[in-house]
Amino acid sequence: MDAMSRIKVKERKQANWEEPLIYDYHTPGKRGMDFPSLDAEFVQSLEKALASLPGSLKREQPPQLPEVSEIDVIRHYTRLSQMNYGVDSGIYPLGSCTMKHNPKLNEEIASLPEATDIHPYQEQETVQGALRIMYELEHWLEELSGMDAVTLHPSAGAHGEFVGVLIIRAYHAKKGELDQRTEMIVPDSAHGTNPASAAMAGFEVIEIPSGEDGCVDLDALKASLSERTAGLMLTNPNTLGLFEKDIKEIAQMVHEVGGLLYYDGANLNPLLGRIRPGDMGFDVCHFNLHKSFSTPHGGGGPGAGPVGVKKHLEPFLPVPRVKKDGDRYCLDDDYPDSIGKVRGFHASFAIALRAHAYIYRMGLEGLKRSSELAVLNANYLFHHVKNIKGFEVLHAPDRKRWHEFVVSARPMLKETGVSALDISKRLQDFGMHPPTIYFPLIVPEALMIEPTETESKQELDFFIAALKKISEEAYSGKAEMLHHVPHNTSRHLVDEVAAARKPVLSRRMVSDQ
Ligand SMILES: *Cc1c(COP(=O)(O)O)cnc(C)c1O
Repeated sequence: MDAMSRIKVKERKQANWEEPLIYDYHTPGKRGMDFPSLDAEFVQSLEKALASLPGSLKREQPPQLPEVSEIDVIRHYTRLSQMNYGVDSGIYPLGSCTMKHNPKLNEEIASLPEATDIHPYQEQETVQGALRIMYELEHWLEELSGMDAVTLHPSAGAHGEFVGVLIIRAYHAKKGELDQRTEMIVPDSAHGTNPASAAMAGFEVIEIPSGEDGCVDLDALKASLSERTAGLMLTNPNTLGLFEKDIKEIAQMVHEVGGLLYYDGANLNPLLGRIRPGDMGFDVCHFNLHKSFSTPHGGGGPGAGPVGVKKHLEPFLPVPRVKKDGDRYCLDDDYPDSIGKVRGFHASFAIALRAHAYIYRMGLEGLKRSSELAVLNANYLFHHVKNIKGFEVLHAPDRKRWHEFVVSARPMLKETGVSALDISKRLQDFGMHPPTIYFPLIVPEALMIEPTETESKQELDFFIAALKKISEEAYSGKAEMLHHVPHNTSRHLVDEVAAARKPVLSRRMVSDQ
C-alpha cells in the first residue's frame, strides 16, 4: 500500500443556521454605538445645507435601516461566515483564478487611517505618501512585466483588457490605419473576457483553434493574419497551464503584419520574478492585483487590473498619470494622445496598497520562490490526478504544467454517469472548494485545477485522496448518491440558473417574493 492510499479523507459539515436578515433583528432604539451630540451651530448649518438641496434629491422618508446592537451584528455576520467558504477556510483550487492566501499584514496596512481617511480631492501636497505608493507600484510592475509604463486605473482584469484594447485601437488610429485594422485574433482557449473586451472596443473577433498540443496552432494563426489584423490577445501560460513555446515566433508573425500583442496577465502568478511578458514580445498587458498580488477576490469585486505598455504605446495611457518631479509626486493630465479617463479618480487605492505591501515584503526573491512553489504544487497534483480512474488529459499529457492543469472526466461520465459537476459538488462534502469546471470550452467535462503556492503537501494529498475516493464511489455503484451531493454544506444543490437569472439582492426583493 503506498503512502497516498493510507490517507483518509473525512467529510466535513458546514454550519447551517436558519439565519434571518439583519432587518429581522430590528428593535427600535437599539444601538451599536453612541454618537457625541452635535453642537447647535453645526446642526443649524446642516439644516441650511439640506434646505438648499433640490427636492428631487430628497427622500420622503429616512432610510429604513435596522436598529441593532453590536452583539446582534457580530453574531449575525459570524453565523453567515460559518455557512460560507473562502480562502481562509481551506483549499480553493479554482483554475484561472489564483485563489491564494493573502497575508493578513497587508489587510492591516490597507486599513490604516493614513490610507482610509484620505480623499482624492485633497491637495496633492497632503497626499504625497499615497502618490508615492502608486508611483512605486507602477514601477515595480514595470520591472516585473518588462513593460516601460504602467497605469493603475483599471478596476478589474476585464477592465484592464478593455483599456489595453482601446490603447491598441488608439495606436492604429494615430497611424491612420484604424479603418483597415478591424480584426482582433483570440485563441479558442482564451478566457471569455478576451473576446468580450475586443468586441466592446469595436473589433471583429477572429477565433483561432488550438493545436493538438493545446498551444496556438501556428498554421491557423498564419492563415488569420493580414493587413486587417489589429492584434492578438494571448494568455501565457495558457488556460490549459501550458507555456506557449512558440511565443517568440508568434510575436514576430503578428508584428510582421503590423499587429500588436496583448498579454492577458491574469495568469502571471507562475512567472513572477522569472519570465516577463515584455521579454516575450508583448506590447501591452494587464495584471490582476486581486489574483497574484494579495487581494482576496470573488463575488465580482473589488479588483484592480493595472495595464502595462511598451514605450510606443505610453502616449495613449489613460490620464491622469502619476509623475515625480524632484522630490515631489504629482498627477499629470497633459497627454494629448491619451485614451482619456477610464474611471473616477486614480486607482482602486486600497488594492494598490496591498500589492505594494506584498511586493515590498516578498522582494524579487520571495516572488520568484512563490511562483516556483505554485508551479511545483500544480505539477505534483497533475501527476497524481491524471492517473485517477475516470480522468483523462486531452492535450500534451506528458508536458509539464505551469500554474494549473485541466483534466477531463469524460471517461467517468461515459462509464458511470458521474459528471464533472457531480465530482465538484462531492468535493464540498470533504470541506474543499471545487475547481473551475466546464472551462476551457475545448475540453469536455473539464476540471481546471490551480492549487497556488499556498497549499502544503499535506493539503494537496488530502485533495488527491478526496478525488480518488469520489472515483471509487463512482465506480462502485454510488453514482445515484453522487447526483445528489453535496450533503454537508449549509445549502444543498442550488438552482444555479435561477440564482444567476433572478438574483434576490435586497430586502425589498426578499419581501416581494
Ligand atoms: C480572471 C481572469 C480574467 C478577468 O479578470 P477579472 O478581474 O475577473 O475581470 C481575464 N483573463 C484570465 C485568464 C483570468 O483568469
